Amino acid sequence: MKHIFIALSLAFALVAQSFAQKQDDMRQVVEYLASQELGGRYPATAGDTLASEFIVGKLRGLKLKPVLKGKKNIAYYQDFTYGKTKETERTTHNIIAVLPGKDKRLKHEYIVVGSHYDHLGMGGKDSGSRRPDTLAVHPGADDNASGDAVVLELAKYFKKNRSPRSIIFMFFGAEEQGLVGSKEFLEWMRHADAQRINLPTTKDGIVAMVNLDMVGRMRDNALSVSGTGTSSEFKAMAEQVAELTKLNVSCTADGYGASDQASFVAADIPVLFLTTGGHMEYHTPDDLPPTLNYDGMQQTLDYSKELITRLVNMPQTPDFINVPSSNTMSHAKFKVTLGLMPDVMGASRIPGLRADIVVAGKPAHNAGIRSGDVIQEIDGKPVKDMNEYMERLSELEPGTTIPVKVLRGEEILVFQVNLNPAK
Ligand SMILES: [Zn+2]
Repeated sequence: MKHIFIALSLAFALVAQSFAQKQDDMRQVVEYLASQELGGRYPATAGDTLASEFIVGKLRGLKLKPVLKGKKNIAYYQDFTYGKTKETERTTHNIIAVLPGKDKRLKHEYIVVGSHYDHLGMGGKDSGSRRPDTLAVHPGADDNASGDAVVLELAKYFKKNRSPRSIIFMFFGAEEQGLVGSKEFLEWMRHADAQRINLPTTKDGIVAMVNLDMVGRMRDNALSVSGTGTSSEFKAMAEQVAELTKLNVSCTADGYGASDQASFVAADIPVLFLTTGGHMEYHTPDDLPPTLNYDGMQQTLDYSKELITRLVNMPQTPDFINVPSSNTMSHAKFKVTLGLMPDVMGASRIPGLRADIVVAGKPAHNAGIRSGDVIQEIDGKPVKDMNEYMERLSELEPGTTIPVKVLRGEEILVFQVNLNPAK
């Protein structure tokens, strides 16, 4: 009896210790990424480089596989350049590492588990800061050092507990600039690249995506999970895990919430997006490490672990269901809607306005316009930026059919869009 008792208390002590350890590790990740030294992790700054090296250091420590031929840190970077003009042009990267699956058949199916690592830098006008008049480090502890800390813990866990499917751990760059990193990743996967290794050959090898953005401020055990309608099994799965982990999970069917998973759902990949939601410090210099709920992050970590475990073990490939967005843009000012989300940050380098997400079942989609098309003209008048787009939209009348000229790849196409009244 005594021995059993000792063994049990020892086991208990070990569990308690590993619990505390995980939380300490997450806290350390947040405290470093959201430190003043990193300056708010704005793309293509010294803080971006420091954050990236820190994350790659952890991935290499876990002996996860890089995605490019070559050596050391850069083998984990997918570089990309964005910005319309020479002044605004910036080069940054996604950080990507792969854990191959152990099942002969399922290892060819990949699940992306991601979080963005960039933030607003020093803030300022047009930065996305909610205090645009204050120039100060926007530390982004919740947004999104919290997500990064949880994803790094997930990488550790799945390295120890190998899964049948392969997992791609991804830290997106330039999310705050208009989901640039996630779009650039999918664009990269559309083309063959002889330098690319360990990833599937095309984006069709990616069967689901799980995104964590702002998971550091859990209140009342509440977690929001969206995208639960984008695949048949997802809602039941999300609810089962909620029951198991005793969290109050609220499900949203569509996957168009404003973070990187929206790029994947627009590419017909089912998604699950986890967040603990907004707060007063969101996009301000006060989004600081001490404001986070680290017990809550532990709960989100436990939830994600269970959810991803189910995903990587599903016997059948998750199907994709196209769920229109419940809240794309406010159409209050307009009599009509096209049913698309334009590139609001102007991150595309091509002249015109890119339709980032075209919602199925809405006028633009019905006419044949697709995500990624760059709008050149509406009703015979030019559209070169967001302002002109809004202007064109305000001139349109419901019940009419108007031509919309777009650039798709190298091709100019004209679609006849039948305008329904705005809903
Ligand atoms: Zn943000």
